[in-house]
Amino acid sequence: MDGRTYISVILPLRLEWEPCYYVFSDRESGEGHEIAVGDRVRVKFAFREYVGVVSAVGMIPDIEPEKIMPVTAVENGLERIAPEEIELWRKVAEYYLCSIGEVYKAAYPVTKINLEEARSAAAERASLRREKILSTMRDRIARIQAKIQKKTAMAEKSREGTKARLQHESGLERLYSELSAASKALDEMTAQTDGPEGSTRIPGCTDENFVNLSPAQSDAYEAVSAGVRGGKPVLLHGVTGSGKTEIYIRLAQQCLRERKNILYLVPEIALSRQLEDRLQGHFPGRLMVYHSGESAYGRRAIAERIRSCRKDNPDNYIVLGTRSSLFLPHNNLGLIIVDEEHDSSYKQDSPAPRYNGRDTALMLSVIHGCGIVLGSATPSLEELYNCQVGRHVHVELKERFHGSESSDVEIVDTTAERKKNGMIGNFSRKLISHIDKVLKERGQILVLRSRRAWSPALQCDSCGTIVKCPRCNVSLSYHKDNGSMICHCCGYRTGYTGRCSGCDGILHGLGAGTQKIEEELRTLFPEASVARLDSDTTHDRKYEAETIRRFSKGEIDILTGTQIISKGFDFSRLRLVAVIAADTLLGIQDFRADEKALHLLEQLRGRCGRRGEKGMFVIQTSQPEHPVYQHIIHNDTESFSDQLMMERKDFGFPPYSRIIELAVRDTDQERCDRMAAALAAEAGRTAFQVTGPYAPAIDRMADSHIRKIRISLRKDKRLKENKSGIYESVRRFEKKMKYDGHITIDVDPS
Ligand code: ADP
Ligand code: ZN
Repeated sequence: MDGRTYISVILPLRLEWEPCYYVFSDRESGEGHEIAVGDRVRVKFAFREYVGVVSAVGMIPDIEPEKIMPVTAVENGLERIAPEEIELWRKVAEYYLCSIGEVYKAAYPVTKINLEEARSAAAERASLRREKILSTMRDRIARIQAKIQKKTAMAEKSREGTKARLQHESGLERLYSELSAASKALDEMTAQTDGPEGSTRIPGCTDENFVNLSPAQSDAYEAVSAGVRGGKPVLLHGVTGSGKTEIYIRLAQQCLRERKNILYLVPEIALSRQLEDRLQGHFPGRLMVYHSGESAYGRRAIAERIRSCRKDNPDNYIVLGTRSSLFLPHNNLGLIIVDEEHDSSYKQDSPAPRYNGRDTALMLSVIHGCGIVLGSATPSLEELYNCQVGRHVHVELKERFHGSESSDVEIVDTTAERKKNGMIGNFSRKLISHIDKVLKERGQILVLRSRRAWSPALQCDSCGTIVKCPRCNVSLSYHKDNGSMICHCCGYRTGYTGRCSGCDGILHGLGAGTQKIEEELRTLFPEASVARLDSDTTHDRKYEAETIRRFSKGEIDILTGTQIISKGFDFSRLRLVAVIAADTLLGIQDFRADEKALHLLEQLRGRCGRRGEKGMFVIQTSQPEHPVYQHIIHNDTESFSDQLMMERKDFGFPPYSRIIELAVRDTDQERCDRMAAALAAEAGRTAFQVTGPYAPAIDRMADSHIRKIRISLRKDKRLKENKSGIYESVRRFEKKMKYDGHITIDVDPS
């Protein structure tokens, strides 16, 4: 058909193909711009309208032209998606076995698009107007400066004390005050346009917080730089407090000097407030913080600044963000830093794309041809393996910057203590006396308990029933503060009466959560100021920031909470870290459980005794002989890592294989079992090794039964082919059985 240009479009859907539409080639899409890859277009698909992304232009359609629809509109107001962005989406979709549309949807959530549209035209005009004003102001300043120069020369020529000289001087004075007013106005104007980040007119990298690296740090810095120059990803492996962050900062400074941008990834933004302050001090006006909780406005402002940087604008930047910041419209990237690379928060569990931020960062670095540094005190076995096989460069930083010996570790056997009357509630007398001592010396204490709520479960005294969620196969947690029982899985909530709904017997709490620990701490140490941080408190950002600030100022003596408190903090007066009921860390039926427990305990140990002072680490457990603790006591986590690595090899677990987990969810239990069995049989045909179907630890969630199938694949030449084989067979299965929407695929499950 004449005059038509055919295009393919990525839609924000779980769609295997990119449907074809057309635009009229003679009618330009407006403002003299021809349709191109990356443009956003409004199209109809299955009777609904979507904003899609043009992925190809000028193709020859493989269906009859009569069946092809025109695009409804070309969204000229929206920024064009860069080829690098689309390339990343393709890589993520291919690796994580999902559709490119699902990645597009994650990268450009709908709210974002709507907002972008609403303001695009008006904003364009406003920004032009702003630019004009700014340039007029700059011109004016330049004119005043020229006048001052001339006048100064004239004044210098005339003799001192003469009338002419005096006239020149008063003229100069007037000019200077004009200059200062004009500069001030310009400053204010730029501050406005740059929003809360402040002025961006800082040239180069003036940095008042400059530190000199120690010899060990300098060596590490050189080794990292060399690795990056060699085009390989680098693992910076250094204990907590060894000064890794200072090295990242130095690398970032170098990068800015080369007029390139930086992406600094962290697992969770809430825990990075101290880091944020530190970076803000080093890179005023260049730091942008981005996370999924960012407001649509904030997100857009950051995306816009990044995009504007593309147009040869020397205003380069550093983005500090969580995994979602990988999908910002990056350009001119010079360096990616992945802090705490081992952290499982990098993995998105749901919805698709179920991607790991660390591995996606590696993909992004390939696309941009930029350096990437992964840092950790406790690297993942995957990362250590990458170093072993020579794919990544391993750089170690063995000493803490402030010296300081490793902290004393004490394992308290709670079963034995209980027999000896050595426990008061959940605290051993041994731990209590340590806390007392530290409090006396005005030191601070962290107490970790990995379960939140007051009590993680409730049991009836007479009939023994454990109160369960009606929708999930998990026990309800008792939240004393609001008198309710809550499901931590689906959010179901009901009032607490203290009585069993079956026999009216009395309910008692099984085990203690953070709320109860907090309560016991207040009773045991009435003089101390106690605070709690867990996900019940952290959704209140203000409270959380305030708590961390108060703790670092020393206004709080004891901070208790879940894993949250193990991350990223650097508190100079912290002397003691304690873990209550550490057994729950080991109890997870998962081949990664020991690795995770080891990482957590190692991170906690790193928290105490910073700044050159020896700290104390107390672990209360009923399994004191567990190898994880033994390795922590003897401070040889490295040999434990080696041991775990051998086990993984023997059992064919990652990193020696790749795991793909299929999950079937269905409200009908019988159908769930039947489909899962059929799917496992189907998968068995292409795969290397299939386990299941089996019921996971939580086998019913929000009214859906869950069955899982685990597929291990050898890491050989056929890996890619095998993976896509699995993907296709799952999709075929869904179609054949008319079972759409029940099956999810998770590559590298956490
Ligand atoms: P890591 O990131 O490995 O945990 P940091 O970079 O946070 O370690 O360093 C630990 C502490 O040592 C911080 O308080 C930091 O300011 C300080 N520090 C590290 N390197 C230096 C240096 N070269 N000069 C001065 N202080 C440093
Ligand atoms: Zn529930």
